[in-house]
Amino acid sequence: MTDLTQFARLGIRTESDLLLHLPLRYEDETRITEIGRVRPGETVQVAGEICRNEVVARPRRMLQIELDDGSGRIALRFLNFYGSQVAQLAIGRRVRAMGEVRGGLFGLEMVHPRYRLLGGQDKLPTTLTPVYPTVAGIGQTVLRRAILEALARTNWEDTLPAGCAQRLGLPELMSSLRLLHQPPPGTPLSSLEDRSHPACRRLAFEELLAQQLSLRRARAARSLQRAQPLRVTEQVERLRSALPFALTGAQQRAWAEVSADLSGSQPMNRLLQGDVGSGKTVIAALAAMQAIGSGRQAALMAPTEILAEQHHRKLLPWLEPLGVRVAWLAGSLPASAKKSVRAAAARAEVDLLVGTHALVEDSVELPALGLAIVDEQHRFGVAQRLALRATRGDVLPHQLMMSATPIPRTLAMSYYADLDVSVIDELPPGRTPVLTKLVTESRRTEVIERVRAAAALGRQAYWVCPLIEESEALELQTAIDTHAELELVLEGLRVGLVHGRLAPGLKAQTMAAFSAGELDVLVATTVIEVGVDVPNASLMVIEHAERFGLAQLHQLRGRVGRGSAESVCVLLYRPPLSANARERLRTMYETTDGFEIARRDLNLRGPGEFLGARQSGLSLLRFADLERDAELVEAARIEAAAMLAGPSAAVDAHLQRWLAGREEFLKA
Ligand code: ADP
Ligand code: MG
Repeated sequence: MTDLTQFARLGIRTESDLLLHLPLRYEDETRITEIGRVRPGETVQVAGEICRNEVVARPRRMLQIELDDGSGRIALRFLNFYGSQVAQLAIGRRVRAMGEVRGGLFGLEMVHPRYRLLGGQDKLPTTLTPVYPTVAGIGQTVLRRAILEALARTNWEDTLPAGCAQRLGLPELMSSLRLLHQPPPGTPLSSLEDRSHPACRRLAFEELLAQQLSLRRARAARSLQRAQPLRVTEQVERLRSALPFALTGAQQRAWAEVSADLSGSQPMNRLLQGDVGSGKTVIAALAAMQAIGSGRQAALMAPTEILAEQHHRKLLPWLEPLGVRVAWLAGSLPASAKKSVRAAAARAEVDLLVGTHALVEDSVELPALGLAIVDEQHRFGVAQRLALRATRGDVLPHQLMMSATPIPRTLAMSYYADLDVSVIDELPPGRTPVLTKLVTESRRTEVIERVRAAAALGRQAYWVCPLIEESEALELQTAIDTHAELELVLEGLRVGLVHGRLAPGLKAQTMAAFSAGELDVLVATTVIEVGVDVPNASLMVIEHAERFGLAQLHQLRGRVGRGSAESVCVLLYRPPLSANARERLRTMYETTDGFEIARRDLNLRGPGEFLGARQSGLSLLRFADLERDAELVEAARIEAAAMLAGPSAAVDAHLQRWLAGREEFLKA
């Protein structure tokens, strides 16, 4: 039996995981290409006799080998090499080498090819060579062997309904898996890579069927749950007409969806997505009012004190005039104050409780909780989100989650199975789009002058210090130094500083001062939170912008452009830029549309990274793609309905194989 613990870092825990760990790509070592026929840009395998072996010193030290197969010559270049390699690759030896061909200065070459010295009888492999996703310390050979061994001793029974595969023209499961791990020569690589090969479609279908089954089961389970229906009372209308603005069309649509859910007797489970500044808070306020107007309590949880505090400040003047009792709870509150808030909440003398995760950690009782609102939901763990609406008897509170990370709709569906989604895809009127400037670091002094000029006009500026992933201490130090520097150069201006190590109270105080216009410049590490709203701030400078991810840059830029003044975001960068960093900065320059940015970010990073798999759990879909496999989704829907009408053991077996351990995510 293979020791699976060594593969835990790859998310492989069971033998099934091992079988379902599919190659990223394949290399074709079953064929040899004549050197005379290879072209730059191709990845090929060649074989020939070594006719040159030289260690050159310039432009840098490297080993130069040349192979000749009678049809032509190709150079193999090694920048890192051992002395033993120089001896091994002696003139006259025969070698097989695989790699990408480049057109070098003196002809064709491969840089760091994979190679093998040829002896007497070297048979070519008979299948394509799989290349698996892996991490440092787990080699391809070990992984390949373990997977092949697992394949050899496994014989999975089909869990699809009888006749289903034939109806859809899909091959058998085991032969599909074998093909994917060991494609016979001649298998068109392109059909494996774009996943149009029938074997890939079989896996995609299996997975989509599992998704449909679990989704329908979750829906069915939810339809059995009960929630208190919340009425739209006259207070909701009063709040709406008391707002200093009219709702945008997108807000009206979102509000109609939320409000309709709330008036139902099934618990709402809805995600409200909207770009930064799109106005999600007011929907939360209206929803809270609908709950409170119906005699229930509401809770609003935000991921940080700054954010929670801001919600509190914003909601108070809207709700208090309507007789709503709003309270605030966060870790930094003195113990005695916490205690009295908890006591009031437990006696239902608090209508709306706003706060941080203290809401779920300090055993707060909200006996009449009718609505739980979670802001920036992706920053909470599943458990925390669930805790806020923990069951009280058999009646569940409604749940509204909000997120400023726009996720393309199809992706959202594949990650959040049993969740309804509302989208605010329009910004409130009167915003001037933020102008983005890309400026090299060498012009930093000019940028500082810009800050001074903005302050002279009564505008405020954020100055974001670089992200230093390797060292939090260094990041902190840089922020402190930048603050000191700007205070010195910008004499006469009021320069504040916030960073992650500041005591929460102090952080909130500084933010409040900036908000009130008592500071001209706010120097910050990346802690200037998602969601902070200071309309008078119209200039943002981000140092070393090339180090930030797209989502982060977009969130940061969203802090400005909230008022009517023309806003500017200066992205200071240090050349030379990597191709990826260049693409990120170009995207920021070209568009302010959060969904477009999310789309490009997704292209640059792939879905797992994009959604921050580390914190949000695993993707539900590993093999299927809702867009590419659209007709399979439809087929899966039909088959799932039929399967659920049959014996539940069949459904269980299929789910166990494809979703084991991931169901938790469905509840999120
Ligand atoms: P986010 O979606 O990022 O949480 P907020 O709810 O903080 O956005 O709203 C951003 C700003 O826009 C706030 O100052 C809010 O009062 C304002 N706002 C929201 N909706 C409208 C609207 N329909 N018209 C004008 N301003 C609005
Ligand atoms: Mg917000």
